Amino acid sequence: MRSVDVVIVGAGAAGIGMARALQAVPDIEYEILESGRIGESFHRWPAQTRFITPSFYSNPFGLADLNAVDAVTSPALAVGAEHLSGRQYAEYLRFVAEAAELSITCQCKVLDVTRRHDGYFELETEQGDYEARFVIWACGEYQFPDLNPFPGGQWCLHYANVADWQALEPGHYTVIGGYESGVDTVVNLVRLGHSVRLLVRRATWEQPGVHDPSVALSPYSQQRLRDLQPSGALQIIYGADVVEVSADAGGGARIHAADGRYWDSQTPPILGTGFLKGGGATQIADFWSWDESGRIRLSERDESLRTPGLFLVGPQVRHEPLIYCFIYKFRQRFALIAEEIAARLSLEHAGQEPGSWGPFGNAECCEGCQC
Ligand SMILES: Cc1cc2nc3c(=O)[nH]c(=O)nc-3n(C[C@H](O)[C@H](O)[C@H](O)COP(=O)(O)OP(=O)(O)OC[C@H]3O[C@@H](n4cnc5c(N)ncnc54)[C@H](O)[C@@H]3O)c2cc1C
Repeated sequence: MRSVDVVIVGAGAAGIGMARALQAVPDIEYEILESGRIGESFHRWPAQTRFITPSFYSNPFGLADLNAVDAVTSPALAVGAEHLSGRQYAEYLRFVAEAAELSITCQCKVLDVTRRHDGYFELETEQGDYEARFVIWACGEYQFPDLNPFPGGQWCLHYANVADWQALEPGHYTVIGGYESGVDTVVNLVRLGHSVRLLVRRATWEQPGVHDPSVALSPYSQQRLRDLQPSGALQIIYGADVVEVSADAGGGARIHAADGRYWDSQTPPILGTGFLKGGGATQIADFWSWDESGRIRLSERDESLRTPGLFLVGPQVRHEPLIYCFIYKFRQRFALIAEEIAARLSLEHAGQEPGSWGPFGNAECCEGCQC
């Protein structure tokens, strides 16, 4: 069994950025375990999808590129592009990993995690077992789409399962969901010559007083939506709270709204309805404390309230009213976690037992303890 201080699970933006922050901790031994390639989720974005957040090399003036995972690199500079594609961003992450000589094992899915009585974690992986004092969960959400947001999800095509919009047959499409992935779908379909009906509960681009891009459509997408209007190929239906999709005898689908309206579609309805709450953290669901709305409750330092030594990084992190779903938001948490782990390791190295420190105290360390 290989033993390290910290295992980071996932080599996406959060895992790579977190490892960069840990490199500031003297003598720390860590390993990133990644089930696919570096930036695997970004490789899987639809070919036409672009970053919503702009990239620009402003680092020398103390304003890190909005999409950078550390203070010294820039996606814009690394690939010479603005509004990067998923593949370009994966390329940037690979560049950071190589330049910083990060310790990563790819094609190494973490299959199971247990926490021993002595406070150490054991991780069973596709490439053998690991032992670690701390685990940082950085599994993202893109590979964990909510395929059944309502009954009949099996008749639909989820945004996360599209590699290239060009593969779709010519036709009239219905897209469900009016936030970033729904609008991105619409933009790409119309650009490729399809006509589209977009069903939205409300206009995320018209919410007076709401400016946080975690809930309001970004200016980049608003502009792309406006640019479609002259084409006449887009119909937007408001107040559509979809509650079910059923198959009709002719091989098409019927989309039902809560108010009794329905729409028929000969092509599979496309879901821009989002991802599983908790995303990749659902792989170890019992290790977290969940609130009534299905979100993970964390300590002030993003540690599980149920499992000491387990931290969460990435878009699922929330500290109401703050939603950390963009890279420029969740990267702000990396240093906090690195600092916490450094402090605990230095206490341990000074001779204190694991578990005798930290926010939970000792024996009754956590809710529904996994120890
Ligand atoms: C279409 C789209 C557009 C977006 N645009 C923007 C944008 O413009 N700006 C922005 O800031 N954010 C954007 N986001 C959000 C941003 O992409 C995500 O927040 C970001 O990818 C999260 O990074 P992450 O490292 O947490 O997750 P990921 O990048 O998904 O990385 C998680 C990694 O964990 C690996 N993994 C999962 N399970 C295991 C396991 N059991 N063992 C080992 N490895 C595992 C996966 O293979 C993956 O590589 C967008 C998201 C989408 C879907």
